[in-house]
Amino acid sequence: MTSQAYILDAATSAVIEAESEHVAHNYHPLPVVISRGEGAWVTDVEGKRYLDLLSAYSALNFGHGHPAILAVAREQLDRLTLTSRAYHNDQLAAFAAALASLCGKDTVLPMNTGAEAVETGIKVARAWGYRVKGIETDAAQIIVADGNFHGRTTTIVGFSDDESARSGFGPFAPGFVHVPFGDAAAIEAAITASTAAVLIEPIQGEAGVVIPPDGYLREVREICTRHDVLFIADEIQSGLARVGTTFACDREGVVPDVYLLGKALGGGILPLSAVVADRRILGVIQPGEHGSTFGGNPLASAIGLRVVEMLRGGEFQTRAVALGEHLQAKLRGLIGHGVTAVRVAGLWAGIDIDPAVGTGREVAERLLARGVLAKDTHGQTLRIAPPLVVRATELDWAVEQLKLTLAAGR
Ligand code: PLP
Repeated sequence: MTSQAYILDAATSAVIEAESEHVAHNYHPLPVVISRGEGAWVTDVEGKRYLDLLSAYSALNFGHGHPAILAVAREQLDRLTLTSRAYHNDQLAAFAAALASLCGKDTVLPMNTGAEAVETGIKVARAWGYRVKGIETDAAQIIVADGNFHGRTTTIVGFSDDESARSGFGPFAPGFVHVPFGDAAAIEAAITASTAAVLIEPIQGEAGVVIPPDGYLREVREICTRHDVLFIADEIQSGLARVGTTFACDREGVVPDVYLLGKALGGGILPLSAVVADRRILGVIQPGEHGSTFGGNPLASAIGLRVVEMLRGGEFQTRAVALGEHLQAKLRGLIGHGVTAVRVAGLWAGIDIDPAVGTGREVAERLLARGVLAKDTHGQTLRIAPPLVVRATELDWAVEQLKLTLAAGR
């Protein structure tokens, strides 16, 4: 049990109890029941307002109910929502062209959730390894990083080193090799003739916004090129303006061979993910070898195109830089006052909480009582990723609430 910093209202309790009875307990949500959202703010069933500092793990980079995204979704809802890829639809081509161009690539393979994009990336890398690089059948290896988080399928949790993600779900797929995150030399040492790809998050989100040393991504790029190995960047959480650039790889001027995208690509409305690469790589997949009933559906494509258009303007990237610098200065002031370390990239922060003032979960619960939504990760870390439409004054207020929360101690 965690300490309870609030008294639940009857409306909130009723929903939580009903959910607990009928929904599998695969999450441990904070005790708030949200019924409306607008911009950076949400309202619960009791009418209380909260500043959303999590943005659905960066899926709401543009905020709740962004008018430009809602408008295109409403229009498309009235026209056509789903065809399956058994037929063509009139929205997919424009979305794919725009997204490929945003990535500096030429081909897109659309899916739905982030985990599906990762699974697709793994299949593409293996197929490329056998059909282009000439790796011996079923011998392909993919190098991954310690501390990774790429989703929840059995293949993906099989190469996680987080016991709570994998324990009890084996047997797992072979073909993955672990190296420490941030250590490019370890990648080079792990490469063999059977290595098809290196799969990393340019910044590890779930691990607590762990930023690799400067130059790491550039070195990974050079190593992959030197050894004819695909560099796959999982930008599902780090990408699409979160860190102040369109992709986190842009921070080092690096272009991976394959981008994995998701979360904010769906505008906070629906799941939309994609694998983006050049035809020389994605072209290895032939009809019948991969797909998804909803992948590339016209509703998601129309929304995805609008999201790409919004990203092309650069406004959200610029906001993430300015607001991130502002936030970083404020958060650094908390070090030594209940915070032991802070890592910030754009408008994305991992805040390590001093165990003397409580766990990350306890601090998140106390913040909830003060009208701020944040989420703990790995025990002592608070991870925040506010919508990029948040105002500096709202961030100031949220940091003040955190300061008061920490000062109150246990
Ligand atoms: N990859 C990364 C880097 C993520 O952070 C996540 C989700 O948090 C995923 C993949 C999986 O995405 P989804 O939850 O949409 O399957």
